[in-house]
Amino acid sequence: MNPPLFKTKMSMTNPEFFINLLGIDNIEIINIEQIDDEFFIYVSSIEEHTNCHQCGKKINCFHGSVPEIKLRHLPIFKLKTYIIIKPKRYLCDDHSNKTTTTQKLSWYRERSTVTYDYENHILLSMIAPFKM
Ligand SMILES: [Zn+2]
Repeated sequence: MNPPLFKTKMSMTNPEFFINLLGIDNIEIINIEQIDDEFFIYVSSIEEHTNCHQCGKKINCFHGSVPEIKLRHLPIFKLKTYIIIKPKRYLCDDHSNKTTTTQKLSWYRERSTVTYDYENHILLSMIAPFKM
């Protein structure tokens, strides 16, 4: 077991540092945990809208979050890294059934367990293993 590289207090004084390391836009960091050789980075989207899945309209009436999901991301300092997020939901009041849509973000595919960056990294390592 490795000693923690960061104490939460220290890392949270400079969340920009971690956001830059992650290379993901429009998020804020809520918490960072290191457990043994794994990083768990809890984030929240700062985008405050999505498009209704029924009519396509841009909607911004916040309607709670769905249960958190855990996405494997590129390693940070050789540590396995996971991003944990509770996707936000928005209400479209143009429909009688008050339909809600879960926010889609540019850095992971819906129902995926990995980020696009991690997915691309794996694909690249299969295509060109000797250039990595
Ligand atoms: Zn709608």
